[in-house]
Amino acid sequence: MNDCIFCKIVKGEIPCYKIYENKDVLAFLDIENDVPGHTLVIPKKHLSDLDACDDDVFAKVLLASKKIVKHFLSLGYEGVNLVSNCKESSGQIVKHFHVHIFPRKTNDGAKLTMQPAKQKTSLELMAEKLRFED
Ligand code: AMP
Ligand code: ZN
Repeated sequence: MNDCIFCKIVKGEIPCYKIYENKDVLAFLDIENDVPGHTLVIPKKHLSDLDACDDDVFAKVLLASKKIVKHFLSLGYEGVNLVSNCKESSGQIVKHFHVHIFPRKTNDGAKLTMQPAKQKTSLELMAEKLRFED
């Protein structure tokens, strides 16, 4: 897509701080510069989100993410958070599938939080609602 900012990064039309790339995947630092080392892993092919991703691309992005995580751990980071927002309701802003990697250290002060629901749902009813089989 022409107006996609991540496609422009893939094409080299706008710069990025590249961390890793292979034939299908590119990883670069998130411009937000919040958690140190916050990295985005994207397919080079434009796919709007996880829902639009075919299995092949999804696997390639996840395998590259694993490789990057192992590299970060080898550099001395002690853990990571992996996050992927899918669709606006989840907070997805850039409509090109991406995985966030947040490198972590013990007591680094960073925190990924979910607001607890005001009313607890029944796990039994929820499981009934969500359960499915292939
Ligand atoms: P999301 O909310 O999951 O769609 O996150 C999109 C992320 O892309 C945000 O964390 C932004 O800081 C990041 N971002 C947007 N534009 C750029 C850019 N040009 N280079 C690097 N990261 C970017
Ligand atoms: Zn794109």
